Amino acid sequence: KKLPERKPDWLRIKLATGGNYAELKDMMRSKTLHTVCEEARCPNIYECWANRTATFMILGDICTRACRFCAVNTGMPTELDLQEPERVAEAAEQMGLKHCVVTSVARDDLADGGAMIFAETVKAIRKKLPFCSVEVLIPDFLGNWDALQTVMNVKPDILNHNIETVERLSDRVRAKAKYPRSLELLKRAKEMQPNIPTKSSIMLGVGEEWDEILQAMDDLRAVDCNILTLGQYLQPSPSHLAVERYVHPDEFAKLKEEGLKRGFSHVESAPLVRSSYHAHEQVKSASEA
Ligand code: SF4
Ligand code: SF4
Repeated sequence: KKLPERKPDWLRIKLATGGNYAELKDMMRSKTLHTVCEEARCPNIYECWANRTATFMILGDICTRACRFCAVNTGMPTELDLQEPERVAEAAEQMGLKHCVVTSVARDDLADGGAMIFAETVKAIRKKLPFCSVEVLIPDFLGNWDALQTVMNVKPDILNHNIETVERLSDRVRAKAKYPRSLELLKRAKEMQPNIPTKSSIMLGVGEEWDEILQAMDDLRAVDCNILTLGQYLQPSPSHLAVERYVHPDEFAKLKEEGLKRGFSHVESAPLVRSSYHAHEQVKSASEA
């Protein structure tokens, strides 16, 4: 299939500089922290930072996996940084965050996959910013459910784990991850803390069929996943997984309806939606659900 050479208009990013955004970017420069917002060149950075939402990447910036859609470097991870939770909390405080997302690379080299550092980071943010909601976007810990328990014990406001794509394409798109294992993680998280909303995300445009997307939604609802985000996959470089198609905004809107019909309490579905987009609103809707 040949793609149009230019991206469709709906993928163009509105530039809105100044205000909160410029101020926060300066502050981030003065710290040596990784935000996904900056490193993934997320199209929503102006809007999110203005809304005091940001996503920190902990446990280093080198991943033990190499998913074909992902721009993060693969290799031997850096040594564990025990001061990281405190530094993230300080940055979150300086940014005056209202919603903080904490995610990481996959650390398959660590016995607990980094779960303890996740837990410490949640605790450190809570201590400095008691009114900031904290969402964790976790890897699958290779199915180490004790590691999952470590994270659930500190009661994040949202437990997020992405299935990324439909079942048929999972092995091709996500090296080392397993579709059933991701569903099991969401199921177990809910069993461990029934009141904590769970969330997952699917990127569209990698070759999935309509019915397969609906099936993935059903699979997520079968493990009582509460929040769903759907966005367009964009290729980070020519050596990454190719985009099969650009999904029209109307289709995203239809999928949102399908998701709500299935009982998700909140569905974000639009071309530029990313896992943490409008996350501050999801905390609200999930607690009202
Ligand atoms: Fe950052 Fe997520 Fe917002 Fe993108 S959608 S700017 S990664 S918080
Ligand atoms: Fe990227 Fe996560 Fe896959 Fe690592 S596990 S390559 S960070 S998507």
